[in-house]
Amino acid sequence: MTTTAEIIAIGDELTSGERLDTNSQWLSQRLAELGVRTLFHTTVGDDLASNVRAFREARDRVDWILVTGGLGPTADDLTREALAAAMNAPLVENEMALNQIRSLFARRGREMPERNALQAMFPAGSRVVPNPHGTAPGIDFESARPGRSPARFICLPGVPAEMKEMWRESVAPAIRASLPGPPRLIRHRCVKCFGVGESHIEAMLPDLIRRGRQPSVGITVHRATITLRVTAEGASDDECEHLIQPTIDTICTCLGDLVYGRDEEELHDVVARCLVDRQTTLAVAEWGTGGLITEWMSEVTPPNPLFLGGLVIRNREALQRCLDVPQTLIEQWGENSREVVREMADRCRRMFRADVAMAVGPFPEIQSSAASPQHVHYALATPDEIITDSVLYAGHPDILQALIAKRALNAVRLYLVHGR
Ligand code: ATP
Ligand code: MG
Repeated sequence: MTTTAEIIAIGDELTSGERLDTNSQWLSQRLAELGVRTLFHTTVGDDLASNVRAFREARDRVDWILVTGGLGPTADDLTREALAAAMNAPLVENEMALNQIRSLFARRGREMPERNALQAMFPAGSRVVPNPHGTAPGIDFESARPGRSPARFICLPGVPAEMKEMWRESVAPAIRASLPGPPRLIRHRCVKCFGVGESHIEAMLPDLIRRGRQPSVGITVHRATITLRVTAEGASDDECEHLIQPTIDTICTCLGDLVYGRDEEELHDVVARCLVDRQTTLAVAEWGTGGLITEWMSEVTPPNPLFLGGLVIRNREALQRCLDVPQTLIEQWGENSREVVREMADRCRRMFRADVAMAVGPFPEIQSSAASPQHVHYALATPDEIITDSVLYAGHPDILQALIAKRALNAVRLYLVHGR
């Protein structure tokens, strides 16, 4: 049975949207590393009844409840009171905690304000989680559940640095020690795809994205890049790896060329690697993508000297002056044409003395009334030929530029992989 967790983040500053709850994200990642599955993230404002309710619900549905925030000495800090009320455990003063708070103030050369004594009040039966660098000690409270193992609450301060230190010093060791049997680890590996939509990808995979499958496969899309995340649970890295690998192999076989990389890899990283493998130099000339491909290719680490550079063109005169594209050609076909973009690629290749050059033409003006679909042309000039293609200029404006830049880069990748 998998050990489960819920994270409860407390504070009006979180529910109002003033501050982003990063503690829950951090804690979930740490819990996963221990093999604990986080089932819920709950965010509650500084309201006693809501906190009581959240604590009760959590106790019934998970094994570990990690609470952050609301441990301070001010009137809006309600965690102690809410936990006591929810668990029917009266607040009692904990002498050890009180001494810790007092000595902290003494070390800072200050008198302890009376209010801070509140921070030494714990629901009866709690243990103290030491907070070496802050005033508020944490609460470790076990709540019995009829017919089940007890649920355990760990309340930590909201201050991220204190919370993290306490996690490392006290909480992680306690959770690890409580886990039954050999350690359970959760590991992920990703397969990155580009070229078709997510539903298309899903249809190409034989029932892999199914709930309850081991290892599980999840699919997400970010700016037209599709990530398939394979997750396995096991006792060791090796065991997880063994569970994951056959699924990765199946995905790669089913999707073929749509798969471009692994884990954190982006298309430009893969193109950079292919340039090295093929000892091929690349240059680009961009109009619509406005330098995005050049920027990506320049971000690759370590820097790749086989990417020679990019030229950004933003109007017709620049096209003539910088790339020497003949005026007659532009007048005959218009700048948004296959013919002109071919010429851009060819001339860019010569100008940079590159082995291959990619050119992206201008983006059409968005006209919602346009009768026919509009296209963006791109061309790849190689030593043997000029390959042209086009993308339908449709989709959300926020992602169009990235989408088209990726289409062009993917064409470079496919050429480098297949030699055409
Ligand atoms: P303190 O003793 O400092 O009052 P506390 O337990 O009462 O500790 P809060 O008052 O809730 O904690 O928060 C203290 C600080 O930590 C604030 O700056 C707050 O914005 C930040 N913080 C609280 N919760 C979170 C969270 N979930 N994610 C990120 N930051 C948080
Ligand atoms: Mg506070």
